[in-house]
Amino acid sequence: MTPVIHWFRRDLRLTDNLALRAALKTGQPVVPLFIFDPALLKGERFSTARLKFMLDGLRALDESLKPFGTRLLIRYGSPIPALRELIDTAGASALFYNRDYSPYAVRRDDQLRESLSVEIHPFDDALLHPPGQILSGSNAPYTVYTLFKRRWLEQPKPAVESGVIPNKQFHSLEGLDNPCIPTLHDFSVTETIDTPAAGESTARQRLERFIERGIFLYSQRRDRLAINPFTDDDPTTSALSPYFRFGMISPRQAYHAAMNARREASTEAERESVDVWISELAWREFYTQILYHFPHVHNTSFRPEYEQVEYRHAPDELKRWQNGETGYPIVDAAMRQLNALGWMHNRARMIVASFLTKDLLIYWREGDVAFMQRLIDGDPAANNGGWQWSAGTGTDAQPYFRIFNPILQSQKFDPDGAYIRHWLPELRDVPTKFIHAPWEMETPPAQYPRPIVDHAFARERTLRAFKAVKQEKIS
Ligand SMILES: Cc1cc2nc3c(=O)[nH]c(=O)nc-3n(C[C@H](O)[C@H](O)[C@H](O)COP(=O)(O)OP(=O)(O)OC[C@H]3O[C@@H](n4cnc5c(N)ncnc54)[C@H](O)[C@@H]3O)c2cc1C
Repeated sequence: MTPVIHWFRRDLRLTDNLALRAALKTGQPVVPLFIFDPALLKGERFSTARLKFMLDGLRALDESLKPFGTRLLIRYGSPIPALRELIDTAGASALFYNRDYSPYAVRRDDQLRESLSVEIHPFDDALLHPPGQILSGSNAPYTVYTLFKRRWLEQPKPAVESGVIPNKQFHSLEGLDNPCIPTLHDFSVTETIDTPAAGESTARQRLERFIERGIFLYSQRRDRLAINPFTDDDPTTSALSPYFRFGMISPRQAYHAAMNARREASTEAERESVDVWISELAWREFYTQILYHFPHVHNTSFRPEYEQVEYRHAPDELKRWQNGETGYPIVDAAMRQLNALGWMHNRARMIVASFLTKDLLIYWREGDVAFMQRLIDGDPAANNGGWQWSAGTGTDAQPYFRIFNPILQSQKFDPDGAYIRHWLPELRDVPTKFIHAPWEMETPPAQYPRPIVDHAFARERTLRAFKAVKQEKIS
């Protein structure tokens, strides 16, 4: 029988995978394919930690295909020639895949449709509501989150696709050359990188565990600066972001699990907490549609006037920020968390992003790129949205005049300094009274740097820089 191909991209799972399911429903043998595209394995936003997490995810996917008498078929190279070659050798008649809405993927898939002679079946799988579905009364994309969310919540949500797929069968891959799934070493990465376990069964376990308890306390505990939610028995946030990033869990699985929890909630506060978590799923979809409809935001400000701000070119300060050596403990602890785990708590992301863009007055894109080089959940849309929000240049961003005070943020969200002490061992013995501002001690710890900048001075400098642009616009 003529085979069809399912091309895995950002959907590394077998369950509730819309394109894979449709491919299996044809009754023809399905070739499960993954292509290592060199364009995605380089560039300034490339991350070895994310590559490691993805490779582990591919191995888990390969394992889960074995009981179906097949393996994950690996190809290297530019997708169009790689697909052409496979279509010819396998004699495939159709290609199935789930859409990816980021700018590179949209361009690639447009070219694909013009270049291949087989039937092409793209599916909207990665979001509950794909770009273009949630539009304002005038059929325009929303650029204000609260309005988007209201509409998003009103729309009926697609169900989880489960159950038996008729004539389910995979191609045995007989006659097709199949190299092993590579290791980091094959990409000339020699450092050892520790990342959490990958794959859809781990993702589902994390979701199940979070739904049992964490989701009911989420609104209360989400801002506590978690040290490592991947190893925590009772994490305060779901720690699902890297799994969403690679489609190891679907948004339908997450949404309906949350709705089931909502039905089981015993108090109004618990129900509200579930709602807050669901609204995070809406943030994910909001930023995905922003990048899709306004692709210029990938490298420039959503609000073009802020491109005129006189940002500072300060490579040494950028480096100190990246290394966690600014002299502000909360900022440094967060950056060391990022460097160690490839993940950072959301509140911490906001603090360090505000610090880079407003205290150091460095252009947000530098931070966006630095984050993408480290984050295992690094997602072009969510990361860009988070950075532009923090910098005050984005859609409904934190206004430029609202500048986080890193000491107050530290006192509020890490009151006893546990997060700081964990990530900055050199401050372990500092009394709690001084943990947020150790330079105020009579003898500050010698191994820890003095503050890179005075916050009050930096605040004024940023206000001046932004006001100058505002005034120019008015005059
Ligand atoms: C400067 C900055 C950069 C960021 N970069 C990324 C990124 O590259 N990838 C990424 O997934 N998130 C990013 N975020 C959003 C957020 O910090 C992470 O999604 C969250 O910390 C992940 O932890 P969690 O899975 O425990 O989240 P939970 O609190 O359990 O939330 C559940 C899910 O909702 C989604 N979500 C939550 N908050 C946001 C948000 N603000 N924007 C978009 N989606 C959200 C994520 O998919 C997350 O897994 C960024 C935020 C900021 C301020």
